[in-house]
Amino acid sequence: MSGFNTRTDGAQPVATAKQQFASDNYAGACPEALHWLCEANASGHEPAYGEDRWTQRSTDMLRQLFDIECDVYFVFNGTAANSLALASLCQSYHSVICSPVAHIETDECGGPEFFSNGSKLLVAESQSQAAQLGKLTPEAIDALVTKRSDIHYPRPKVVSITQATEMGTVYSVDEVHAISSMAKTRQLRLHMDGARFANAVAHLGCSPADITWRAGVDVLCFGGTKNGLPVGEAVVFFDHKLSEDFAWRVKQAGQLSSKMRFISAPWVGLLENDVWLHNARHANAMAQRLYTGLQNMAGITTLHPPQANGVFAQLPPAAVQALHTRGWKFYQFIAGGGCRFMCAWDTTTESVDAFLADICTVMGA
Ligand SMILES: *Cc1c(COP(=O)(O)O)cnc(C)c1O
Repeated sequence: MSGFNTRTDGAQPVATAKQQFASDNYAGACPEALHWLCEANASGHEPAYGEDRWTQRSTDMLRQLFDIECDVYFVFNGTAANSLALASLCQSYHSVICSPVAHIETDECGGPEFFSNGSKLLVAESQSQAAQLGKLTPEAIDALVTKRSDIHYPRPKVVSITQATEMGTVYSVDEVHAISSMAKTRQLRLHMDGARFANAVAHLGCSPADITWRAGVDVLCFGGTKNGLPVGEAVVFFDHKLSEDFAWRVKQAGQLSSKMRFISAPWVGLLENDVWLHNARHANAMAQRLYTGLQNMAGITTLHPPQANGVFAQLPPAAVQALHTRGWKFYQFIAGGGCRFMCAWDTTTESVDAFLADICTVMGA
């Protein structure tokens, strides 16, 4: 292999390629985001490095959405957003408490440790039901903090939670409050990986403020890509003290886009008319439809009911193989043959039904 996408068959992607359930970032960008991308382009020359009117506008819209004068930074992807946000909360000898299935632990190639110059991630192992659902609990956090206090152990400084979780579940407002109050007791900061924040808010039906700063979150990485942007995440600081040097961090990490308007303007499309919420509600509804269909099939074990846009189920290996042969793409990463099916902002009911029909066929039902 000589690149990220080495193809040997000369095949080109076609516009009619079928929708997949591998990841919500298989989807393209939504029309509203593209509209503002084109508007930003049509505006001709604009100041660079975030001094443009589009960046100002989307920042203002985020402040309005969160009902607070937060500090907002636009970066290219979620790994950078998380890594840099965590680095801003930690010294190199500190540690970050997270779930064993946290994206920062399993899917960021050591980015948080690298950008913080070595802050260690401490995984909260637990057999609790919450842990099965991909969640941290105040008890698990407390157990890790109180386990050691000597200078040979990296001092816990941050709690990181993922909202919605990697298991497709959503922390309630009360759960976030309970975690932040434990964090406060132990003098820890609270970071929220919101790669699927929109899906979580769509599920909860609460205000974005209620599930973030009013519940004790210090910094949110607000995912735009999986919600319908072509590219880009917003790092939202609710405490100005924490973002003091963040602009320099972003620049040093190679995450400062010179033509920042092309990352920030599409956010106008997501935020205007609550498109972000509509996109998320739709993706969640498609996951619900898929889950309901799977529940009615013999031989398939669905795991917990979806609260966001992911469905988890166990299928016989032969069925998985047969689905792959039929061209369906999805990941299996839960021990014991569990499959993850993600729905996106543009997943159609026809795609869900076609997928269900094929599953039904390969199950021999
Ligand atoms: C997708 C995702 C991210 C961001 O990943 P990038 O590929 O770096 O954009 C972060 N956290 C979670 C939970 C995710 O699912």
